[in-house]
Amino acid sequence: MDLRHWLGRATDAIQEWADTFGPYETHPSLLVDDGRLADAFEEFTGRLKDNYPFFHPRYAGQMLKPPHPAAVVGYLTAMLINPNNHALDGGPATARMEREAVAQLAAMFGYETHLGHLTTSGTIANLEALFVARELHPGRGIAYSEDAHYTHGRMCHVLGLEGHPVRTDSRGRIDLEALEDLLRTGRVGTVVLTAGTTGLGAVDPIHEALALRESYGVRIHVDAAYGGFFTLLAGADDPAGLPPGPWRAIGSCDSVVVDPHKHGLQPYGCGAVLFRDPEAGRFYLHDSPYTYFTSSELHLGEISLECSRAGASAAALWLTFQLLPPTPDGLGRVLAAGRRAALEWADLIIASELLDLYQQPELDIVTYFPVVEPASLSSIDTASARILAEGMTGPDPVFLSTFRASREAFTARHTELTADATDARILRSVLMKPESEHCTGDIHARVEGIARAFG
Ligand SMILES: *Cc1c(COP(=O)(O)O)cnc(C)c1O
Repeated sequence: MDLRHWLGRATDAIQEWADTFGPYETHPSLLVDDGRLADAFEEFTGRLKDNYPFFHPRYAGQMLKPPHPAAVVGYLTAMLINPNNHALDGGPATARMEREAVAQLAAMFGYETHLGHLTTSGTIANLEALFVARELHPGRGIAYSEDAHYTHGRMCHVLGLEGHPVRTDSRGRIDLEALEDLLRTGRVGTVVLTAGTTGLGAVDPIHEALALRESYGVRIHVDAAYGGFFTLLAGADDPAGLPPGPWRAIGSCDSVVVDPHKHGLQPYGCGAVLFRDPEAGRFYLHDSPYTYFTSSELHLGEISLECSRAGASAAALWLTFQLLPPTPDGLGRVLAAGRRAALEWADLIIASELLDLYQQPELDIVTYFPVVEPASLSSIDTASARILAEGMTGPDPVFLSTFRASREAFTARHTELTADATDARILRSVLMKPESEHCTGDIHARVEGIARAFG
């Protein structure tokens, strides 16, 4: 799709609508000189070049990529009106789009009933889920795995709750025996399970943990901020297909968070929280003299901790979902390509004499390290850091990221290594762009080349 064409259509469409309200003059205080704008714009675009090329397949580092052009068009068009999805009065159209898009997310997770809304981020979405958890189980803490996102510990602190990190197994998943030992103490009210950890993409055994809810009277919240859209690959008849157990179980959990600004092709500012029981809304009740509710229809501000939120985010997600819905044939194809890329690259690494696989990728995150002599954590750490730095230089760059593996985690996976340090950096590539599928051989050869020279 031609972005220039559609951005032109966007300004025309909004201008046409604006013209129906009659002419008015822009206040002189707001007028700017085109020449000065040209100069500032020149400097601005120059400064923006100080970025890594997140769009390019050779960028195989962190969880970063530009939004889909449909999301850009949806966002910028709605932004020209700048609705606020706090209340229906702030933007009836985008509030309805938000409810429709959220219903599509609920259907993707198999929620038969739901209450949910978009948030500014996964962190805020998780905060809302933990806030409701605290209201339902006052005085009881939150359990999450050691590999869960760091913000769970931080948000427990914000909410005045005790956070309980639980050890992980040798694939980075929450250890259910350790979890059950903790639950026996009665100190935990809610268990957070992660569907796709941020570091390794490990998927906690949600289907096996569900039984604990009844036995110990706990809530189960799923942090699928990163991995949520991989639900679309559950049970798929494709090399990229995923074991359906954990994904199908999400529909029975009490709440779930997913970040459309990670795998939903959206720009930043788009997380989502969903509660299976719409009754969760009662904890958000508030009254304020300045937010005016002109209808008795549900206002999103009544079920959200945040006040102002960009209606443009909902518009972007809604427009994207019209074209690439959260279904196996829609967005599922995008995720499948990244996952196939991860599997292909993992195979190349396994066959390589210069690189070793840290663990088999569960989603689309590949973790690996250079083969070094002596085979110790400290020499792996040094070599990984050099490959990261060297990769970004020269005429033929490749952009990776590093991941710090603890001594325990590393030696649980690679018993032969000399554990001469408390941890070691390894290399990590998040293959979240479908184009990666066509470039694994190229990226692998490039990384091997650097490893050969600097390993
Ligand atoms: C990214 C991420 C978060 C935090 O989400 P933000 O949108 O960055 O605030 C939380 N949990 C997991 C598993 C994540 O991957």
